[in-house]
Amino acid sequence: MSSSVITRIGSLVTNDPALGEGPLGLLEDAAVVIDGEHVAWVGPSAAAPAADESYDAAGRAVIPGFVDSHSHLVFAGDRTREFNARMSGQAYTAGGIRTTVAATRAASDDELHANVARYVAEALRQGTTTIETKSGYGLTPHDEARALRIAGDHADEVTFLGAHIVAPEYADDPAGYVDLVTGPMLDACAPYARWVDVFCERGAFDGDQARAILTAGAARGLVPRVHANQLGHGPGVQLAVELDAASADHCTHLTDADVDALAGGRTVATLLPGAEFSTRAVYPDARRLIDAGATVALSTDCNPGSSFTSSMPFCVAVAVRDMRMTPDEAVRAATLGGALALRRDDVGRLAPGARADVVVLDAPSHVHLAYRPGVPLVSAVWRRGVRESI
Ligand SMILES: [Zn+2]
Repeated sequence: MSSSVITRIGSLVTNDPALGEGPLGLLEDAAVVIDGEHVAWVGPSAAAPAADESYDAAGRAVIPGFVDSHSHLVFAGDRTREFNARMSGQAYTAGGIRTTVAATRAASDDELHANVARYVAEALRQGTTTIETKSGYGLTPHDEARALRIAGDHADEVTFLGAHIVAPEYADDPAGYVDLVTGPMLDACAPYARWVDVFCERGAFDGDQARAILTAGAARGLVPRVHANQLGHGPGVQLAVELDAASADHCTHLTDADVDALAGGRTVATLLPGAEFSTRAVYPDARRLIDAGATVALSTDCNPGSSFTSSMPFCVAVAVRDMRMTPDEAVRAATLGGALALRRDDVGRLAPGARADVVVLDAPSHVHLAYRPGVPLVSAVWRRGVRESI
């Protein structure tokens, strides 16, 4: 195992208040020592111990790699026309998912592998070093298990989302589809996933159906996470908190009781501004959640229908501009928040013992992620202690 030291970091986000100032644990003129896959030391640059290799950050900012805790990367096909139509005035509904289901079922394994690899690499170039991805465009036991096996070859975390929409073959028998998801499909998929997810929304699955699917998954050792309250008010958030889901995702339409539930439980509110951006919808109110005491994560929701971005810096910028988050809160939510939404304590922070996932920004401060929207600021990335060529 070799070691390396990153010196002369102008501003270092550790996400560890014990190491520096404020909730971000900010350090100025800092250094990070990497030993093998992990962070070995963090402190003042002048006091940095020697290492096998040295990298001079020359005053630039360093943050933990982004943790994208919500994406849908196992798909084929293209929905440019749907996006174009929506931007020309048509409303977004969950129905467009069927287009991607047909294309994904028809795709070869090689094609799906290539697609996932492409989007994971795209995310890495933008600073994402941990990524979750889901099934959900197969909707048969065979196609869902195939999607999860392919996802597991590329992503850090894999989620079974057989309950994305009711499969087209079951359009007239949604109860039959829930039986399929909680029976043969779960049998085929449970070995390949850590998480079980449901799109709990009008037009997809109601509260009772979502409860049946999440509890069946939990009985097989999968931990729940829920697509909740994206398109309107509904039972998703309350159900997520009740079942101690790791995350309630979207959280766009919340009652006061929903906000209180999130603030009182350990379920993370994962906000996905790319979805509102790409559907011209109203953004979730992050300020309301944070002020109530809820834990907030930011994620891309990268998918071909409603949020075709893999860019965490873009999500940070939108969250600051339109969701009333401060730059510090948004960067924390995109790193540590994502780690909490995945119940991981080895990523999302830069402290001794953490995974050495390090992002150097071509900027003096992490604030530039919001201050300079759309500018490719990521200039170097280490993942598991290895410098990536980006
Ligand atoms: Zn999603």
